[in-house]
Amino acid sequence: MSTTTTDLTALAAALRAAVGPDRVLSDRQELRTYECDGLAQYKVVPALVALPADAAQCAAVVRACVAAGAPFVARGSGTGLSGGALPHADGVLIVTSQMRDILEVAPSDERAVVQPGVINLAVSRAANPHGWYYAPDPSSQQICSIGGNVAENSGGAHCLKYGFTTNHVTGVELVTPDGDRVRLGGRAPDAPGYDLLGAFVGSEGTLGIATEVTVRLTRLPESVRTLLAAFDSTDQAGAATSAIIAAGVVPAAVEMMDALAISAAEAAVHCGYPPGAGAVLIVELDGPEPEVAAQFDQVERLCRDNRAFEIRIAADDVERALFWKGRKSAFAAVGRISPDYIVQDGVIPRTALPEVLRRIGELSAERGIRVANVFHAGDGNLHPLVLFDAAVEGQTERAEEVSGAILDLCVRHGGSITGEHGVGMDKAKYMPRMFTADDLDTMQLLRCAFDPAGLANPGKVFPTPRLCGEVPGRRKGVHPAQEAGLAEVF
Ligand SMILES: Cc1cc2nc3c(=O)[nH]c(=O)nc-3n(C[C@H](O)[C@H](O)[C@H](O)COP(=O)(O)OP(=O)(O)OC[C@H]3O[C@@H](n4cnc5c(N)ncnc54)[C@H](O)[C@@H]3O)c2cc1C
Repeated sequence: MSTTTTDLTALAAALRAAVGPDRVLSDRQELRTYECDGLAQYKVVPALVALPADAAQCAAVVRACVAAGAPFVARGSGTGLSGGALPHADGVLIVTSQMRDILEVAPSDERAVVQPGVINLAVSRAANPHGWYYAPDPSSQQICSIGGNVAENSGGAHCLKYGFTTNHVTGVELVTPDGDRVRLGGRAPDAPGYDLLGAFVGSEGTLGIATEVTVRLTRLPESVRTLLAAFDSTDQAGAATSAIIAAGVVPAAVEMMDALAISAAEAAVHCGYPPGAGAVLIVELDGPEPEVAAQFDQVERLCRDNRAFEIRIAADDVERALFWKGRKSAFAAVGRISPDYIVQDGVIPRTALPEVLRRIGELSAERGIRVANVFHAGDGNLHPLVLFDAAVEGQTERAEEVSGAILDLCVRHGGSITGEHGVGMDKAKYMPRMFTADDLDTMQLLRCAFDPAGLANPGKVFPTPRLCGEVPGRRKGVHPAQEAGLAEVF
């Protein structure tokens, strides 16, 4: 599928007619602003960018793309970490950042209705004065959009207790890949028939573009208590995590950092974690005061039983923020100890934590590639940070091997190749490690039912048919099989 120069001029004119001249970008310098998302190693300059102001304009943009046979890619804030919003060189990037109205906050109904470009944290800010908030809290919540959250089924530290985006979205209005406006779900908690809303959440822009989202609001907790426990090893911290959950306590969050992640965070934000810790856990409980008080004592005891050598309890919001500062800074902080790094995202059953972490340590030692571990321990969502120096010959390749081997470990232990960052462009090649060809064909049937022409975010989520067996690694330019006409990207 390709759009010729003449087609492009006509398409730009159609887009300008749809949204107005100021909302279409065609200047190469301006287009370059959008050449990547949060995974900056992949860059593609889109042919055109459209910034619709509302759902009607968004639908008109999609219809113009369909008429021109041009692929299109939705983009919210561009913070995605799997290349999901990577533009198509011959296509239109449809950016929702101008669709930022909070249409309704209805605490009596436990609902808010927002446009897709609304920033995650803005929903909580609007609901807080009423005593409510929006629970899914990706670490990027100050900048990522609700539309992006829906597309990625985003999670965050507190999703252990509250669930992921999919548990907090009850309705979506979307523009289908052929330009129709339809509604899936609504304000009610559930609807009869196939769960198409469930299919749409997490579909990474391949089934259409969300133009309005109805979310569930959650009551602000009466009480929040947080502790930081230091252990000699990740084994001990992992055992403490399992003991807490086995005791029937569901903390709002259980986060773990290993020694390397702690040293990076210390270098960056001086969070003052206990010196000499091989691992720290941050455990946060929230809910009614008596329940939190009783469970907090239990959690403290379970940490000690599993050989925590120091436990600190946040006395107030300031100290709590300090505990979280180290954790929240960890991704960026590794930039202090390594020039390059890969943020991996995989899931394992929580009980496999000690074994998988040990094997990651062995992989790291075998290949001479450092790995810092910082992750949502409560739900087994690992975020190994694979450190390397691209300037040193062979390190990039070895880092990518380690990164891929970690995903293999996750799959072998009954887990998943992604917990919350999505498949996007980056992990499409790993899908055959987790799913059979039949599984993937079945998923394609769903995708094709929504998008028979294959125009919505092509080349994402699914491996290209003939490239399924390719080994992981960076690829620059057009794949030789594509060039030879043996495979196509769709
Ligand atoms: C520092 C940092 C920390 C992060 N922490 C977390 C975390 O804790 N948890 C987590 O889950 N993620 C995290 N992320 C990843 C990212 O923020 C999330 O995936 C987020 O949901 C992406 O939102 P966005 O608006 O930036 O989407 P984009 O990056 O613009 O797009 C992401 C995907 O959504 C699609 N899309 C965007 N808008 C729409 C729409 N309206 N309709 C249909 N499809 C659409 C795009 O096509 C693309 O496939 C982090 C990222 C960074 C940079």
